[in-house]
Amino acid sequence: MDNCLFCKIAEKKIPSSIVYEDEELMVFKDIRPAAPVHLLVIPKTHITTLSDCTAGHAPLLGRMLALAPRLAEEHGCAVTFNADGEPSGGYKTLINSGPDGGQEIYHLHLHVIGGPHPWRVEAPRHG
Ligand code: AMP
Ligand code: ZN
Repeated sequence: MDNCLFCKIAEKKIPSSIVYEDEELMVFKDIRPAAPVHLLVIPKTHITTLSDCTAGHAPLLGRMLALAPRLAEEHGCAVTFNADGEPSGGYKTLINSGPDGGQEIYHLHLHVIGGPHPWRVEAPRHG
């Protein structure tokens, strides 16, 4: 896709802090992190928005989401439980879609946002 920032990042025509890459996916650090850990998981092939996805995209979307726990583990924000069963750590997985969904870059991406608070993320609230 011409003139798509994340296609250019996937093609390494624009530099980014890449933390994971395989044939299908790339993960890099968000340039304006909302939390101590803020990664973006993208397909290397251009998909404009989640609304362009159909059932045929389910394996790709599944692989994107399934990367999150591995990334969280590697970046120190996995969910763990102590001997009393109390959870700690953690992260959000987020896909913004369209203007009302807060999408700024029109190349599908999954945010993985985590680490110790405070975070700079919009409250998911309405009304
Ligand atoms: P969204 O609002 O879901 O479209 O998120 C787009 C994200 O891309 C924002 O969190 C931006 O900070 C991030 N971003 C924009 N340009 C770059 C870049 N060159 N490298 C890394 N992240 C970027
Ligand atoms: Zn693109």
